[in-house]
Amino acid sequence: MKAGVILVAAGSGDRFGRPKAFVELDGQTLLARSAARFDGFFAKIAVLRLPDLDQTRLPGWTLVAGGARRRDSVAAGLAALPPEVDLVLIHDAARPLVSDEVIARVREAAEQRGAAIPVLAVTDTLKRTDGDVVAGTVDRAGLVAVQTPQGFSRELLERALAASERDATDEAGLVEDLGETVCTVPGDPANVKVTVPADLAVARAYLHAIR
Ligand code: C5P
Repeated sequence: MKAGVILVAAGSGDRFGRPKAFVELDGQTLLARSAARFDGFFAKIAVLRLPDLDQTRLPGWTLVAGGARRRDSVAAGLAALPPEVDLVLIHDAARPLVSDEVIARVREAAEQRGAAIPVLAVTDTLKRTDGDVVAGTVDRAGLVAVQTPQGFSRELLERALAASERDATDEAGLVEDLGETVCTVPGDPANVKVTVPADLAVARAYLHAIR
């Protein structure tokens, strides 16, 4: 199959304090680091906030403006993919340390089964809360934390976006809404998502451990 990647980087970075894509990790932006992980892909689309488009240089990538919701940014990326692309990986620019192995696992599983996401078993104890008191303990057996890239056949992803106007924190959620199967592959603890400033220190530690 011909694979394209959509790198989503159009978030406002509210929890970080500024757009995360341009935050630097050891002298290179999260956007540049994430983009470099997908060098070999046939088609590469980066989705940025409109004001960032002019100032961004990412050789080999097509840059497009995103939207207010994550799904709008994904739809903008999808519309920019050449017609011959039939397999799509969507990756958060905020995950700069994704490994070749995770990318390959997602790509292969999505090719074979239509939809695939990388996951990690949850190790913390999980509780539901009501205000500041505990309302119950959640059985963590079978629960996983979900990473990106998420991989889909283009046809399935387009159908999922067209089926509803619901926003979702990941694209797999929209595919699940269709009743389609999403398969899981092992993620990687080093594939951290930079959400708050402290995550940068974690990412830096992994970066130096990997090297
Ligand atoms: O907000 P959160 O950290 O979950 O965002 C995950 C990724 O989705 C980030 O890389 C962010 O830039 C992207 N995003 C986007 N367009 C939006 C919202 C989020 O491209 N409207």
